[in-house]
Amino acid sequence: MDGIDFEGIAAGLASWIGSGPATVVVSGLATWVALLRTATSTLAVALAAVALCTAIELFAPAERGQGARGRIRNLGHLVVFQVLGLAAVTPWIRYGPAPSPAAPAVGPVEAGILVMAHLLAIDFVYYWYHRAQHRFPVLWAIHELHHADAELNATSSFRTYWLELPVQAVLVVSPAMLLLGDRGSVHALGVLVGSYAFLIFSHCNFRLALGPLSLLLCGPQVHRIHHSRLPEHRDRNFAQYFPFLDRLFGTWYAPSPAEFPPTGVDGLASDASFAQVWMRPFRSVPEGLAGGEAPARSSSRTPRESRARRHPRR
Ligand SMILES: [Zn+2]
Ligand SMILES: [Zn+2]
Repeated sequence: MDGIDFEGIAAGLASWIGSGPATVVVSGLATWVALLRTATSTLAVALAAVALCTAIELFAPAERGQGARGRIRNLGHLVVFQVLGLAAVTPWIRYGPAPSPAAPAVGPVEAGILVMAHLLAIDFVYYWYHRAQHRFPVLWAIHELHHADAELNATSSFRTYWLELPVQAVLVVSPAMLLLGDRGSVHALGVLVGSYAFLIFSHCNFRLALGPLSLLLCGPQVHRIHHSRLPEHRDRNFAQYFPFLDRLFGTWYAPSPAEFPPTGVDGLASDASFAQVWMRPFRSVPEGLAGGEAPARSSSRTPRESRARRHPRR
């Protein structure tokens, strides 16, 4: 595939077809294919990291008895996520705002600081988006698949509904990119590697408590609390990279050293079929808009109110 110039073919086809809607479709297809190719090479590296983490999971699992089926299913969700998600995000890539091209490239040290600032900016926006996902049924409908995983492990971050990709590209990733600009390949690579590393690591089935570092970096135990089935963990630890955001905004739950709860949700089975998963938002959202039962993860209570209910003052 490396030798095929899709952009060139698209340009040739476009000039042959002439201007109009057909040109837009052909050039859009070329962008989609280019995005797929970039994602494939990035994912090859990510999957190597997953394989390494899976080997470690076998030695010191937080939860014993996980099989291969769940992992294979999650990789299947990844394929759907990439193919449909990248198709859906293509118009935004082509016609959405681009980061400032005037921003000068930076060296490795500055790039390191910039990468952390970039991840913090992403996590700040993601924190509020994530809280909204747990609060509003229309957003929970596309987040539920991720939470339905009853066997949290290194493949779980790939278990994401495809509509998350365009929604997060617009609401989460683009604001940070517009704020900090494109500062060269070292910066871009750092953000990519950093975000993948956090996502894979924080879902790992490791019996690993980070102790005092838990507030600084999101580890497997802190994020497992977010995925927990237990009521005392509901709507806690929303940050994906930096848990001090949860402390700042009142949703932090500090796990005790041996606290590794079971995960999953009641509304959707962990092994639900791909057809069921694919159709679920298209069914539950209209039901919710029509006043029916569209479940949200959260109650309407704030974390502080929830805490007061669990520990009522006398
Ligand atoms: Zn969540
Ligand atoms: Zn997660």
